[in-house]
Amino acid sequence: MAAKIVISDDYKGYPLDLFCIPKHYENDLENILIPSGLITDRIERLARNIVQEFNEEGLVALCVLKGGYKFFTDLLDRIKMLNRNTEMSVPLAVDFIRLKSYVDDKQSGEIEVIGGDNLENLKGKNVLVVEDIIDTGRTMLKLLDILHNVKPKCIRVASLLVKRTERSVGYKPDYAGFEIPDSFVVGYALDYNEYFRDLNHICVINEQGKKKYAA
Ligand code: 5GP
Repeated sequence: MAAKIVISDDYKGYPLDLFCIPKHYENDLENILIPSGLITDRIERLARNIVQEFNEEGLVALCVLKGGYKFFTDLLDRIKMLNRNTEMSVPLAVDFIRLKSYVDDKQSGEIEVIGGDNLENLKGKNVLVVEDIIDTGRTMLKLLDILHNVKPKCIRVASLLVKRTERSVGYKPDYAGFEIPDSFVVGYALDYNEYFRDLNHICVINEQGKKKYAA
């Protein structure tokens, strides 16, 4: 796995009042772990790394919905900008798959694949899976299993976040934005029972937030 920004366990994040937070979430968050500006800057670099690897070969970017949609659009915007403005140029196609594994902040046990019935289109292609977060890694291993069955030329995984957790099965993505402590994070399209997707920074949810938005 390539280099990533490591956020240590004793990092306290930023107080909420130093940045702009929607009023409806003000009491539901512990801190701001990654402000949106830093997310943007890190994605710019991931895009460059990806373009350098795939240069001119072309790839299908596969968005893992719903949590991955912000990372996916911002990453692809950056790749397209490099395509327009540098000598490097990666022909891009897009596809989408939806997986569901969490209720509240607990894995439901079952990892559900919703959609993705046209995955045959990925046969012989370079596939870049774009995911929001790897926690235990079980979801990604299941998805990789499914994808290998359709025989792509190669598969790479880009995950914005990787959690440092004892529950990890050991899976590491090819591209990672940030390694984070073992807390439940929301914002930048990551949800808690569908809430907080409308928050632009990545924040740690507090107990009140978990209670208020419990399933
Ligand atoms: P894994 O199978 O790696 O344990 O879990 C992966 C999925 O769990 C992610 O795609 C995401 O949907 C969800 N998940 C894991 N940790 C978090 C978290 O801290 N916040 C949010 N919002 N979702 C998480």
